[in-house]
Amino acid sequence: MSDYTMTIDGKSVKGSKSVGVINPATGKVFAQVPDCTKSELDQAMEAAQRAYRTWSKDINARRKLLGEVAAALQSPPEGLARTLTQEQGKPLAKAQQEIMGSSIWASYTASLEIPNEVIQDNAAGKVEIRRKPLGVVAAITPWNYPLMLAMWKIAPALLAGNTIVLKPSPYTPITSLMLGEILREVLPPGVLNVVSGGDEVGGWMTSHPVPRKISFTGSVATGKKVAAAAAPDLKRITLELGGNDAAIVLADVNPAEVAPKIFWGAFENSGQICSAIKRVYVPEAMYSSMLEKLGELAKNVKVGNGLDAATELGPINNKMQFERVTELVEDAKKHGAKIVTGGSRQGTEGYFFQPTIVGGISDGVRLVDEEQFGPALPIIPYKDVDDAVRRANSTTYGLSGSVWGKDPDRAAEVAGQLECGSAWVNQHLAIAPNLPFGGAKWSGIGVENGTWGLLGFTEIQVVNVARN
Ligand code: NAD
Repeated sequence: MSDYTMTIDGKSVKGSKSVGVINPATGKVFAQVPDCTKSELDQAMEAAQRAYRTWSKDINARRKLLGEVAAALQSPPEGLARTLTQEQGKPLAKAQQEIMGSSIWASYTASLEIPNEVIQDNAAGKVEIRRKPLGVVAAITPWNYPLMLAMWKIAPALLAGNTIVLKPSPYTPITSLMLGEILREVLPPGVLNVVSGGDEVGGWMTSHPVPRKISFTGSVATGKKVAAAAAPDLKRITLELGGNDAAIVLADVNPAEVAPKIFWGAFENSGQICSAIKRVYVPEAMYSSMLEKLGELAKNVKVGNGLDAATELGPINNKMQFERVTELVEDAKKHGAKIVTGGSRQGTEGYFFQPTIVGGISDGVRLVDEEQFGPALPIIPYKDVDDAVRRANSTTYGLSGSVWGKDPDRAAEVAGQLECGSAWVNQHLAIAPNLPFGGAKWSGIGVENGTWGLLGFTEIQVVNVARN
């Protein structure tokens, strides 16, 4: 029997089947959620389509309600943050930050305008470019920031006049279901529907005839399936996919100063961030001191159950990902890499992996070439900057990257050569609600956030009036 309910047409739906959710700190099932059936998904889609007729009409009403969504998350129910920690693994303080961040995102997005542009207004006629909503949006999210990444979709989609069916990851469905429960009090029935279930529910959504847009965040492999499923119906897509972000350290930096920033750019959320630093290129002359500094940081960070106040890094979210990180680190060892710190699981229960710094490694080894999405960071020496840039770019990924240097203009010049959606200088993970975020190459299609993200939930209509 489910402990949480889906939200369909403004109503609480227990669902006819349920499925367990595992706490990654214990490796044990701690709650049951509905396992959405095809007919329950149909009901959600139909409810969203009905609600669209009214919801799409009045932006001022939508803006006001989106403000109320933000307010509801300012004082979330007891237990929302705790549940986020239990299902995702992150420290409780970080779970609270994610909830606050979601509120900030909603409130910022509520303040945006959707401008109509008049591009001709004279005796011959008036031409106006308008932005219309698309219809029902199918929103599909991953397990690393379940609430935040849901809000990146909900807020702009709703402000633009669309309605939504949201499906969270099967690993972290509960807080999205709770969000649906909370927002039943705020939004009209059918405007936001939340369903839970396995990957197959995502497949049903992307091939369902109702949605006109799929907003997807997840892996490249699934993103390609989503694009293929959307094609026969020419559904619009935004794909926010994986990354293999490189950080390039220039020779003029003080390693002691940048090492902590690079460490947290890589290990925040136990490395489970699409745009976390996933490989670091360091000048040969600085290599050993950088390894040592990063190694010390990794050794001293407190890993544990996110519900313990002292915890700085939680477990990896799920068994599959835990096994993947283990496999990549074992493969690096086989290729002669030097494990500076960490290198194996921590403890005997749950999916804890020691924060791991890997040296003596280069391009061509899986830990460097693939997205590890976990707490294991390869550090790679380089001889000249052009070569480091070339290696940073020789990947199908292109989400973000960073360059670290004493002279920010020189560093920005190098950062501009990176083939990626966000090129940061002397920082990483500088993500904000007003800045477009998206990937080049296989890291995605389209952007989220800011006006650019909002316009992705609209379609242009040219209203062209002849006068005479
Ligand atoms: P995933 O692709 O396995 O799953 C993401 C979502 O897609 C889940 O809800 C899943 O149930 C659903 N899904 C699975 N198969 C589907 C199908 N055939 N059709 C439709 N939906 C389907 O990804 P994940 O393991 O949950 O998340 C980790 C990945 O997400 C990493 O690669 C990470 O880099 C990426 N990510 C990207 C961003 C970004 O903004 N670019 C943000 C966070 C995570």
